[in-house]
Amino acid sequence: MRVIVLGAGLLGTTSAYFLSQLGHDVTVVDRQATPGAETSFANGGQISVSHAEPWANPGAPLKLLKWLGREDAPLLFRLRPDLRQWLWGLSFLRECTPARTRHNIEQIVRLGTYSRDVLQQLRRDTGIAYDQRTQGILHFYTSQKEFDAAQAPAEQMRQLGCERQVIDADHAVRLEPALAHIRPQLAGATYTAEDESGDANRFTRELAKRAEAAGVRFLMGHTITALREVAGELDHVEATDVEGRYQRLRADAYVLAMGSFSPLLAAPLGIRLPIYPAKGYSVTMPVKDASRAHQVSLTDDEFKLVFSRLTGPQGDRLRIAGTAELNGYDRDLNTVRCEAIVRRVEQLFPGAGDTARAQFWSGLRPATPSNVPIIGASRIGRLFLNTGHGTLGWTHACGSGQSIARIVSGLAPEVEFAFTAATRVGNVPGPLASAA
Ligand SMILES: Cc1cc2nc3c(=O)[nH]c(=O)nc-3n(C[C@H](O)[C@H](O)[C@H](O)COP(=O)(O)OP(=O)(O)OC[C@H]3O[C@@H](n4cnc5c(N)ncnc54)[C@H](O)[C@@H]3O)c2cc1C
Repeated sequence: MRVIVLGAGLLGTTSAYFLSQLGHDVTVVDRQATPGAETSFANGGQISVSHAEPWANPGAPLKLLKWLGREDAPLLFRLRPDLRQWLWGLSFLRECTPARTRHNIEQIVRLGTYSRDVLQQLRRDTGIAYDQRTQGILHFYTSQKEFDAAQAPAEQMRQLGCERQVIDADHAVRLEPALAHIRPQLAGATYTAEDESGDANRFTRELAKRAEAAGVRFLMGHTITALREVAGELDHVEATDVEGRYQRLRADAYVLAMGSFSPLLAAPLGIRLPIYPAKGYSVTMPVKDASRAHQVSLTDDEFKLVFSRLTGPQGDRLRIAGTAELNGYDRDLNTVRCEAIVRRVEQLFPGAGDTARAQFWSGLRPATPSNVPIIGASRIGRLFLNTGHGTLGWTHACGSGQSIARIVSGLAPEVEFAFTAATRVGNVPGPLASAA
């Protein structure tokens, strides 16, 4: 079958690779010059099955109210005269009930565990290297209240097979001696030994090379301008190349994997995807003093930041990422927020990173109100969806790519997950549909 994959980020590239492994003739279309150049460029690097608590949870509404208007808030709604933003916000509030939160954690953990397995298998099959580390993820708490509140979700994750262990502060420091500096402030931690980290951009490019070697074509520098339907089926895709030349691209099946931009192209087909861009920042800096730098990938609960150590051809680097700002499609760098990240790194690991050479980056997470991605068939024939991966697109990339490749091929996915079906309203499972 000829398949066109729309988007060459983590989700498009993994979809293309696994589709080609199942014998399809695949073309990937993307407006950038290289794969992984937008949100998949400089993320936090964590393969974090343990990071399954959705933003929407019973405690979120109160926290969001407190954070409104605070420039350094971990999650900031900048209210705009934008109907999509308000509908997304209402839908988010509906996802905050205990029952919805439990349901969403279940989906996120199942897909995450499967995805990590697929990534590990891919590594064994291909030898792909991407600055990966397999030392687990340590999530530390400096607030006793937040640490106490983390026990129940950790227990739920363990029941779902994610071995997120609750540990005391001394144990945390034994696992990551670089935390010794803040030992007095530590309330406790959780540790998930099976979790990993790595450079998502290097992974995307390396996987694209392998896909190309297997026959996948990458049509880079092509902007998709419209998806055209005829009689309930996707008939063709319209795109322009860098010089503005118009083209019609046709295939037997299409996979929409355009991250935050997916809803804009799907809307004219009557598919309302509840995806809104959640801008995040990352800071990457060379390691200055390796003895003070962390080895294990970390999550700082208080500041909602993730830390990965990336060591590879580009050097030994610290990558710190976080914060979320719901403010439309603007990717402007807010220096207040970036400087807050640098300050926190210096507080935790003084002298570890070369802050003078810190590189700032912003990216738009394709966020759904539930944090559950949208994967599966759509109600337009031939059009499939692999999008809306929000905070966990790197964690979920391989499992989502493998699953959509199987769904397109008419095979059953290998993981129990709320995949979308052609008959569902707006193509979105459960209560998200009403946000459409
Ligand atoms: C600050 C930050 C930290 C993060 N940390 C982590 C983490 O630690 N772990 C984790 O699992 N996830 C993390 N994420 C999330 C993860 O990076 C994303 O979920 C993931 O990159 C989304 O991939 P995607 O392929 O859906 O989107 P993208 O990477 O944005 O890919 C979409 C592609 O579509 C193309 N495109 C869009 N519109 C058009 C058009 N009109 N024509 C042609 N091409 C088009 C773009 O060029 C792009 O290449 C983080 C995200 C951010 C922002």
